[in-house]
Amino acid sequence: MAKILGIIGGGQLGMMITEAAKKMPEYISKIIVLDPTENCPAAQVGAEQILADFKDKDAIVDLANKSDIITYEIESGDSDVLKSVEKNAEINPSPETLKIIQDKFLQKSLLVENGIPVSEFIKIEKIEDIKEGIKKFGFPVLLKARRDAYDGRGNFKINSDDEIQIAFDYFKEQNLLLEKFVPFKMEVSVIASRNTKGQIKTYPLVENIHEKSILRETIAPARVTEQVTKKAEQIAEKTMAVLKGAGVFGIEMFVTQDNNIIINEIAPRVHNSGHHTLQSSETSQFEQHLRAILGLDLGSTKLLHPTIMYNILGTKSFEGEYIPLTLSEPNVYLKMYGKQISKPLRKLGHFNLVAENGETIEELMKKLEPLKEKVVTQPLH
Ligand code: ATP
Ligand code: MG
Repeated sequence: MAKILGIIGGGQLGMMITEAAKKMPEYISKIIVLDPTENCPAAQVGAEQILADFKDKDAIVDLANKSDIITYEIESGDSDVLKSVEKNAEINPSPETLKIIQDKFLQKSLLVENGIPVSEFIKIEKIEDIKEGIKKFGFPVLLKARRDAYDGRGNFKINSDDEIQIAFDYFKEQNLLLEKFVPFKMEVSVIASRNTKGQIKTYPLVENIHEKSILRETIAPARVTEQVTKKAEQIAEKTMAVLKGAGVFGIEMFVTQDNNIIINEIAPRVHNSGHHTLQSSETSQFEQHLRAILGLDLGSTKLLHPTIMYNILGTKSFEGEYIPLTLSEPNVYLKMYGKQISKPLRKLGHFNLVAENGETIEELMKKLEPLKEKVVTQPLH
């Protein structure tokens, strides 16, 4: 029988999961999202909404009572609360998997224990620990919040001794870790999935370009050698076997100067660098996530066409309502997230630029330049 799907978080990721779910009426009869923003993106495409904070225990219990199966678009959920409602609804990825992944220290420790390469790191409890770490790693180092970071906001790069105190104070009472800086050649990621039966599939390796720690462009496939691609995909598969939970996971990696792969971090959810799959692949990451948590066979992850995904971020110069964006160009697929207010660097939408007739990534890159100008947000009034 078709199930009722509950999603914690109804932002753009919840929105695109909702849209995928609506195309699977034989498996999913209704979608309910828990989100604190009135008329959140997912609600705008047909999800019912429970208006409450992500951490509101009563609201999570309410969602579990109303749903057969629960998933999430954010990793900051309270894994203990989720564990406590497991008798009411099946939760995927599991609260155990979430608990490990949402804490960067536990996550990296698990990877190291299983022989999966990550940058060297240590736990930080007092300022002296940072000094010890710097002795070991040398400058620069990254001080990171263990939990609830996004878009690089949980990171502080320390370049010299006089920045140690500033960095430590920046985080106030948060739990921290210190990480060796990786002078990477490229950032890449693998969108990987594992269904409830243990079947694992990965999408081809993609290349990610960040601006001010925010993802700006994803290039599918990554411009690396076959060997690097193989290495990354093997590491992704091994990681999925270690993590156990069901669903789609975004595995962010660095390609080092000597062409090795190390994992930066894992997101236990659909990932911004997988948005290209909406047009580039037979199965989008959103459909794949649903297939994984429903225990269906995973869909094909073959890349049908090289594609560049470009994130539309709010213009730095203003905050407020903006003139609606349109793009009507061949092979360009614009997706706006229904957010009324533009804020500096806020993720408002994205577009996919898809290759035709054997176009190369280089040719797509040229086509991309003038398109960037057309998606700059301007004040409405
Ligand atoms: P996200 O931006 O994915 O939401 P986040 O805020 O948790 O995640 P990270 O992924 O840890 O942050 O880091 C953000 C960016 O900072 C990375 O994409 C990378 O560019 C850079 N970075 C992080 N760790 C390192 C490192 N050890 N060495 C070099 N650069 C790093
Ligand atoms: Mg990251």
